[in-house]
Amino acid sequence: MTMVKTILPLAASLLFSGLFSGTALAADPPNVVVSIKPIHSLVAAIMEGVGTPDLIVDGAASPHTYALKPSNARALQGAKVVFWVGPGMEAFLEKPLSALGANALVVELDKAPGIAKLKFREGGPFEAHDDGDEHAESAGHDHDDHDHGHEEFDTHLWLDPHNAKAMAAEITTTLVAADPANALTYEANQKALDDRLDALDAEIVATVAPVKDKPFIVFHDAYQYFERRYGVHVAGSITVSPETIPGAERVSEIHGKLADLGATCVFAEPQFEPKLVNVVIEGTSAKSGVLDPEAATLPQGPDLYFDLMRGIASSLKTCLS
Ligand SMILES: [Zn+2]
Repeated sequence: MTMVKTILPLAASLLFSGLFSGTALAADPPNVVVSIKPIHSLVAAIMEGVGTPDLIVDGAASPHTYALKPSNARALQGAKVVFWVGPGMEAFLEKPLSALGANALVVELDKAPGIAKLKFREGGPFEAHDDGDEHAESAGHDHDDHDHGHEEFDTHLWLDPHNAKAMAAEITTTLVAADPANALTYEANQKALDDRLDALDAEIVATVAPVKDKPFIVFHDAYQYFERRYGVHVAGSITVSPETIPGAERVSEIHGKLADLGATCVFAEPQFEPKLVNVVIEGTSAKSGVLDPEAATLPQGPDLYFDLMRGIASSLKTCLS
């Protein structure tokens, strides 16, 4: 009995591999590499039961200040599929990805069908992008060389679960094409992920409802997608991009505007100079909190996206209540 049980699956798998591929088993997962934690979380959810994608910007690193490591370059060399947001978010990946051979399928998720994009804003309480004197209205303003890369739009696209669903659809289509043997698993995982994202969306609406109209200041201007989806009120940002540490002048400018803006809370981010936030609120009645839009403090994996979004919602509720 035991012998038969052992031999049968082996025979079946040999037959399967002989039919579909000369070298590897048909169900071998492809090497998938993902740029940043929030996107990696979505890919990991869709690959559950098949394999685990590699992550480039891991630990507490920020995609805004990241430098590629030799181990990342090796992972990219061996990748069958690479997912990234695009050059506006992970500028450090632009050259390495263009140098990859035709064997790797590179998917830029800011181009996924159904993604809603929002323009950068600037002027007034939002730090201008290059030139402190220009206003948002000025015609012909060129974004080509500002600090957030060279895209016209805000690339923190994942901070709206509707965009996450659009990305998940594109990720699934790509994986099904690259690895048809596991198509049913990818598709079932996507369906489950969509349902979880819908539930998350409803949960966040309820969490932030009591603090919806209370203005607050953020460290970098990363939250437009969250704001639009949930109707929360970001009154300004200390810096447009964490690549540029704001100077004393900018800090005192925001400090001076706190009362006018009616901001009751100023949020730091884990990777960047929390001391600046203390300087901004010094001598005012505003409180400070922490928001983590790029998930620097969260362990990677399929649940990270949900922890990230819930974390933002609960930090807003706690600080603004
Ligand atoms: Zn950012």
